[in-house]
Amino acid sequence: MLNILIVEDEKDIVEVIEYNLKKEGFKVSKAFDGKKGLKLAQDKRPALIILDLMLPELDGLEVCKKLKGDVRTAEIPVIMLTAKGSEIDRILGLELGADDYITKPFSLRELIARVKAILKRCSQKANESQSVLRFADLEIDIDRHEIKSFGKIVELTAKEFALLRYLAENKDLVMSREKLLDYVWGIEVAIETRTVDVHVRRLREKLGKSGSHIKTLRGVGYKFV
Ligand code: CA
Repeated sequence: MLNILIVEDEKDIVEVIEYNLKKEGFKVSKAFDGKKGLKLAQDKRPALIILDLMLPELDGLEVCKKLKGDVRTAEIPVIMLTAKGSEIDRILGLELGADDYITKPFSLRELIARVKAILKRCSQKANESQSVLRFADLEIDIDRHEIKSFGKIVELTAKEFALLRYLAENKDLVMSREKLLDYVWGIEVAIETRTVDVHVRRLREKLGKSGSHIKTLRGVGYKFV
């Protein structure tokens, strides 16, 4: 069951939102001030946060800024509630990284519809980003364990696949041989770092033109570009 956090000090509004979310099958957490809301968000990592702008302790804008600036909570979508319909509030809310806003008074049907729309968007994004890594000429399908270079399937061994996946997931970051050994081979046996070079060479050969994604940084390691 997906958990939704409501941060709002007006208890009757919280109650009515809670009632309607539960009716739709969501689990609900509540906080009546900004500080507690932030704490709950960090502890519970809800699927979505409905965040009021005007809050005691820490206002909604501050809470949103803190949520989006913290790796633990940055990915959690936020719907801002605002009493004022002014454009400034709206823009501010979105500039701070809020995913949507709704002005009070709002219809519950609309709020629920937005909640569902955002959750759907997020789960699609999460699925895509997890299962397929796409580059101009290269596709790495993690679920299917399949690599395509210029639309053609390339057969890789499990180790080569893991190596390519790890490099691609850490695109533009330099990965040392030790790090690659650790991730791809784990603690199996004491393997020389030269093994990594051998595998990268084979991987590059198999990838053909797409092999140029993997850059060698002499004495440092490899990097996917
Ligand atoms: Ca309020």
